[in-house]
Amino acid sequence: PARPRFGSQLPAGLQTISNIVAVSSCKGGVGKSTVAVNLAYTLAGMGARVGIFDADVYGPSLPTMVSPENRLLEMNPEKRTIIPTEYMGVKLVSFGFTGQGRAIMRGPMVSGVIDQLLTTTEWGELDYLVIDMPPGTGDIQLTLCQVVPLTAAVIVTTPQKLAFIDVAKGVRMFSKLKAVVENMCHFDADGKRYYPFGRGSGSQVVQEFGIPNLFELPIRPTLSVYGDSGVPEVVADPQGEVAGTFQDLGVCV
Ligand code: ADP
Repeated sequence: PARPRFGSQLPAGLQTISNIVAVSSCKGGVGKSTVAVNLAYTLAGMGARVGIFDADVYGPSLPTMVSPENRLLEMNPEKRTIIPTEYMGVKLVSFGFTGQGRAIMRGPMVSGVIDQLLTTTEWGELDYLVIDMPPGTGDIQLTLCQVVPLTAAVIVTTPQKLAFIDVAKGVRMFSKLKAVVENMCHFDADGKRYYPFGRGSGSQVVQEFGIPNLFELPIRPTLSVYGDSGVPEVVADPQGEVAGTFQDLGVCV
């Protein structure tokens, strides 16, 4: 099977990073990127030096969720390194900032691209690198987990039935699993709380696997509006309810 061509040693580009946090999900569209980006900006808001690596080469969301002035990565031709772009002090690398549109490539090529973007970037001194993982638990994800020295992992899931099985897979993949975020768990309308996908799967998962932290993120139109606007909600509304949830998550990682 295809494997990323990571060397056996920690790549030089990652040696100046204190904490590497993976945000993962077993399916697409559950809010993984939303959590990764808001978590990163929350950590930055707490005073940390932060970078985001969008490893989702097939569907990079970072270029939609943040709006850096410079939307293309620069190269350092002498050192053959990549210089991240930046928005509000957070360093950003995504395939979506290479100017090549969406990837149409086979697994080995994707692995190569992830390898190159992650390891030849001049991240500089960072307190946290947040990795927005590709969805799923396939070979690319597994190898990323094995090669990158993760200090924490967060799994994002939605409360549907399958989520439980998905989380079980994710739990096996990460030894440093710190939290599960149950996204889109409820919404409030007319003074009532609705649970459109049912209740209880989150706490079941947490009990079953002994996961230290469970966070519930409600369905909130503002989260998606901000997500599409290029300004993460925690940046736009740092005192809001969502920002509070992400601060609690930030403390866990
Ligand atoms: P993934 O990275 O898992 O594919 P995204 O973070 O891109 O998922 O989210 C998918 C879509 O759902 C985006 O349009 C996002 O803005 C929206 N979304 C995510 N979480 C919420 C939420 N809690 N409430 C409302 N919209 C959300």
